[in-house]
Amino acid sequence: MSLYIEQIEQLVVLQKVDTEMIGLERILEDAPKQLRNLQEKQAYLLQQQEVIQEKIDVLLEQKGRIEFEIENDSQKVKKSKNKLMLVENTKEYHAMMREMDNLEKMNRVREEELNNLLADLNDLEGRKESLQKDIDALGETISAQQSTLDQELADKRARLEILNKDKSHASEAVPAPILARYNFIRDRIPNPVIVPVSEGVCKGCNVVIPPQTFIDLQKGEQILSCPNCLRIIYWERHFSESE
Ligand SMILES: [Zn+2]
Repeated sequence: MSLYIEQIEQLVVLQKVDTEMIGLERILEDAPKQLRNLQEKQAYLLQQQEVIQEKIDVLLEQKGRIEFEIENDSQKVKKSKNKLMLVENTKEYHAMMREMDNLEKMNRVREEELNNLLADLNDLEGRKESLQKDIDALGETISAQQSTLDQELADKRARLEILNKDKSHASEAVPAPILARYNFIRDRIPNPVIVPVSEGVCKGCNVVIPPQTFIDLQKGEQILSCPNCLRIIYWERHFSESE
């Protein structure tokens, strides 16, 4: 095997490791985003629930006030009824009857108000409960995803560590100037760095390489780059022959 082929092979190994590492790093970055979305959704539902709770508190306060007023006026009516027996004056008797009548009328209005309020309260409690169910369900999903994610990320990190070792092995095998060229390109253009040329076409950018470059490439003497995308290129037949 010529030195040229050997170097290209080492670069292809390095490329394989780099490609897998890039994929893993992307997963490590994106995976927690999904979980964050769920957490944000849960926070939103909790906030909705708080708004409902505030309304419930207002209604409960109102309920207490109305119940107090009803009780208060009922007591007044009761006292008046007791006094009524003692009244001898007709005028006074009628005045008291009217007052009791008024109090009872007001209490009937209050009872109606109270019934409406209880219906609203019931409705709000129902909404709060259904929100709680959604919040609980989300919470379960979140904790399940959290543990899956933790495991997944731990696996990916372990794999990355192995790849890092593979990478330094592969890098050691590549002569320093060629490795520097590889790294220079890797830092500036999207993966991959090294690509085959098939039927005179660069597989990195799908553009036909100039005839002279293709002739030089087939000679297999020096490491060349695609003039269009700047990636390192190799003739695919060189590589399949060496395998
Ligand atoms: Zn190209």
